[in-house]
Amino acid sequence: MTIYNFSAGPAVLPKAVLQQAQAEMLDWHGSGMSVMEMSHRGKEYMGIQAQAEADLRELMSIPSSYKVLFLQGGATQQFAMIPLNLLRGKLSADYVNTGEWSKKAIGEAKKFCNVNVAANNADRNCTYVPAFDSWKLDKDAAYVHYTPNETIGGVEFGWVPDTGDMPLVADMSSNILSRSVDVRKFGLIYAGAQKNIGPAGLTIVIVRDDLVGHSDPRLPTMLDYKTHAENDSMYNTPPTYGIYMAGLIFQWLKKSGGIGAMERTNITKANLLYGAIDSSNGFYVCPVNRADRSRMNVPFTLKDAALDGDFLKQAEARGLLQLKGHRSVGGMRASIYNAMPLAGVQTLVNFMSEFSRSKG
Ligand SMILES: *Cc1c(COP(=O)(O)O)cnc(C)c1O
Repeated sequence: MTIYNFSAGPAVLPKAVLQQAQAEMLDWHGSGMSVMEMSHRGKEYMGIQAQAEADLRELMSIPSSYKVLFLQGGATQQFAMIPLNLLRGKLSADYVNTGEWSKKAIGEAKKFCNVNVAANNADRNCTYVPAFDSWKLDKDAAYVHYTPNETIGGVEFGWVPDTGDMPLVADMSSNILSRSVDVRKFGLIYAGAQKNIGPAGLTIVIVRDDLVGHSDPRLPTMLDYKTHAENDSMYNTPPTYGIYMAGLIFQWLKKSGGIGAMERTNITKANLLYGAIDSSNGFYVCPVNRADRSRMNVPFTLKDAALDGDFLKQAEARGLLQLKGHRSVGGMRASIYNAMPLAGVQTLVNFMSEFSRSKG
């Protein structure tokens, strides 16, 4: 039986990439070693990391005026590193609250500065993206932070806010590489790897040069972007195996036609799943405003929560795994990241239709 893993993260990886990693596990390209065993200062590993960076730059068309950093600590550590590095003597920052991950970013930033919540969707249970003309931005803020895809609520921005000269900071943990974005519109983009890039333990930061190097001198060395920018992310030992795996994913993406091709497939997958929900006569319901529905994380409830257990059990019996929704939302959540094949969504949709008929 083919297994389809709908986990929100750590999440499914392309089978071809796992097979390649398996084939190279004991002897990487005739080196006689696993990548895990290589010195991070050796020429083999340095080549792997340089290639991963070059491929990511190519995939996302990252201008040379931006640094690409390979860090640890997860997206959660960025919640602190962003204010610590980007306040640059200012006292406040603008944050947009669209759900659970925005709230965590806001909570952490409050330790370091005044947070102006410029827009908030809590009035409708975090199920929509607040229109840009309703945002109350502060011209004295150091930057504007938002979460383009709320992994838990399933709310995704279909547009990039235009904040002019004010640096725009985006937590792209769950939708990086899933759609084209113009990096030049951002001051900083960050993402934990375990949703759409590779295994957990790697965090990617893409930061514009002029935002680096303005931190308080007492900031711990490892929390300063400058440390990592000046040392090609090798100030200390980087998460070498995670970077190698991310590099294999970048090559897989390039071979699959790049981000444009991936975005088209993601649209097809999302339309298929939302279509099944919307045409179920209320058996399945997605609470998110139609225009703001995530292409990556699809939350839905069953008309009767008493059927949840049966749904999950029958789904599992068909190889459809990890569909249980986040405890804060309930119901189901299907995460359909880049590595989820169209056949996985097709199988899910077929099952959903049979299940609703059997219980209808
Ligand atoms: C998963 C996730 C995080 C947390 O990532 P960690 O790497 O576990 O710290 C933060 N933001 C978003 C949008 C996420 O999806």
